[in-house]
Amino acid sequence: MYNLSGKLGVEFKTIHAMVNIYCQHEHRTKKICEHCQTFLSYANKKLDRCPYGQIKPICSKCPIHCYKKKQREQAQVIMRYAGPKMLLWHPLLAFKHLVGKKHPIPKRVPEKASHRHHRKLNGSKPANIKR
Ligand SMILES: [Zn+2]
Repeated sequence: MYNLSGKLGVEFKTIHAMVNIYCQHEHRTKKICEHCQTFLSYANKKLDRCPYGQIKPICSKCPIHCYKKKQREQAQVIMRYAGPKMLLWHPLLAFKHLVGKKHPIPKRVPEKASHRHHRKLNGSKPANIKR
């Protein structure tokens, strides 16, 4: 897992919170189960590689479909379940997401803007995110 910053960091926090809600209720766990953890790592990797980097549009509006079919379906199930609960449990993250919905999609995909690109430039190593 990579330590994402800025907008990407907020996005990951949001996904993390949603997976948490979903897993706790659907899989009846205290800690995120292995299955959901794998999905979370996948989402983290995709955010790291997102070519839009810090100007990334919200995923549901993004013209690039970077998720594979299986993970895309998994994401839809999680979002459908946890999305409505976010407003109550994580109002700030939910609000930020709503604001993001209003932002226009960048016309062009920028070059060398991904978090991954910057990470490699700075030579920073992946960080372990505390759960
Ligand atoms: Zn789970």
